[in-house]
Amino acid sequence: MKYKDAKEEIKNRISIVDVIKEYVPLKQSGSNWLGICPFHPDKNPSMSVSESRKMFKCFACNEAGDVFHFLEKYLNISYFDAVKRLAKVVNIEIDNDYQSTAEYKKNEARKEALYKLHKDVANLYYKYLHSDVGKVAYDYLTKKRKLNDKTILKFGLGYAPKNTTLLYNKLKEMGYDDEVIFDSTLFRLNDENRVVGYFYDRIIFPVVDINQHIIGFQSRTLNKEEEKTRKYLNSKTTLIFHKDNMLYGYNIAFYSKADYYILCEGNMDVITLYQNGYDNAMGAQGTAFNDKQIFLLKRKPKKIYLCEDMDDAGIKAKNHIADMLRKHNFETYMIDLNPVKDVDEFLNDSRLGKSEFVKRISDPIPSILYYAMTSKLGLDLDNPYDFEKYIDLIVTKLISIDNSIVRENYAKKIALQEKIDSNKLLNLISERLKGNSISKSDLQGIKDETKKITLNEDSEEFKQESNFIYLIYINEEYRDKIRDIVSVDDLHYEVTKILYEKYLSGVKIDSIFNEIENYDQSIVDIAKRILTYNYNYDESNTNLMKDTLNKIIRNIKINSIKSTEGDNLDNMYETNIKIKELMSKKFL
Ligand code: ZN
Repeated sequence: MKYKDAKEEIKNRISIVDVIKEYVPLKQSGSNWLGICPFHPDKNPSMSVSESRKMFKCFACNEAGDVFHFLEKYLNISYFDAVKRLAKVVNIEIDNDYQSTAEYKKNEARKEALYKLHKDVANLYYKYLHSDVGKVAYDYLTKKRKLNDKTILKFGLGYAPKNTTLLYNKLKEMGYDDEVIFDSTLFRLNDENRVVGYFYDRIIFPVVDINQHIIGFQSRTLNKEEEKTRKYLNSKTTLIFHKDNMLYGYNIAFYSKADYYILCEGNMDVITLYQNGYDNAMGAQGTAFNDKQIFLLKRKPKKIYLCEDMDDAGIKAKNHIADMLRKHNFETYMIDLNPVKDVDEFLNDSRLGKSEFVKRISDPIPSILYYAMTSKLGLDLDNPYDFEKYIDLIVTKLISIDNSIVRENYAKKIALQEKIDSNKLLNLISERLKGNSISKSDLQGIKDETKKITLNEDSEEFKQESNFIYLIYINEEYRDKIRDIVSVDDLHYEVTKILYEKYLSGVKIDSIFNEIENYDQSIVDIAKRILTYNYNYDESNTNLMKDTLNKIIRNIKINSIKSTEGDNLDNMYETNIKIKELMSKKFL
């Protein structure tokens, strides 16, 4: 079908409301539909979509047009690609006559030439990776990074050889002229007027857009010297590639069915996550996270889980990105990767691996709580000046939350987590909202000195300690060994401490309730729940019992280290080493 006719035919057969609804929630209002315009920051439904006129229009920013224009803007694709995209949906073949239109000739022809060249170059890089010249790179990916061939193919990973003339000659052989070759910026002329490649001796990560066009490359050097100066290198800006306007892995994550995105730092994190079943990860390597990238995420608003590196810079970056995302109404969470540095390392660590990652990702930390945890790193909270600074940071963060209910909720959670008096914290917030600054006297008594932990029976820590108590009571043979490993102070709750002390003094399960009957009724009630709960252990399997106890003891020791030392940045490194040692230890 002729291009012009096809456009009309598609518009007749497709509902513009249905198409836009896929990306923006719309509500019917009379004969029109209203939604929040994605093309300017807004909280009111300023965009109107008309089925009868087959148009959309925003009354705030004036963006308007047909269904193709919506996709062009929204998906950052060309108008022609938008037409082709919808033609596929309704099964229409379009003639190539659009290629003679003036607009196409100006930009689109150049773009298409670049797409084609990048695709061929990527194929060649892929072939080099699987040839003799790419052996070191292939070994690096498969042995060191533990990627399998399926994953390498899915991401089209490749190798740019040291000798770049090889690639240039190949492209000439394939019929490319120098105009498009230099337009791609993948080659340049050196001082001796010889053609040299931009990427050499590097692992290549093709960057793909949501129409599956390869638009550029990212790379990592294999050369030890270059590692110090140019470890990572991106394609230069071209007509089709802008590094600020991309996220690595977006072409896959965009189509994921998960209700959240994982945002991480490196390409390798994205790829390893994919190999472990997460098709919703993206990386912002080599760019300062920016508004254009947020717009990419907004195309399908989801919760965002941040998985940046765990070093000081990574933690700062994470908090900063969370702030930016919250301003755009994203729900943001943090994934705790302790005791290792990044996701890739986490998933490849035999003691952590996928099963531990599944646990962490199903229990993400709301970014505000994470901020409260990490903003005290490097501060000495016993020093009054540092403590004031810390409270000031928390109050400032909390008042940046517009919604007062959400704000109050987080204030209470932070107070609980950080052991500060929640009423006093709420007072400071309301004073600050009135424009008053924090004075010394406001801070009097804000630290909850009793440090009594409110008991939450659903918390992971409480479950851990209840399981521990139950298992040691039914496995008395370990009493002497466990005495040497776990101290009463490793436990957090009054009730588990009491039960553990009794156990150490030789009390058996059939007499424990007599032993504690004079304690507070609340203690007795919880103790009964702990010891009579149906944990579903196969108690006849002694090896399994032993393994389970080993695991639980390990978690208890790690929690104990974290709660005593984890707050102090100076100790963070040593703490991580201690935790790492525990990970592989068998206690029983
Ligand atoms: Zn608008």
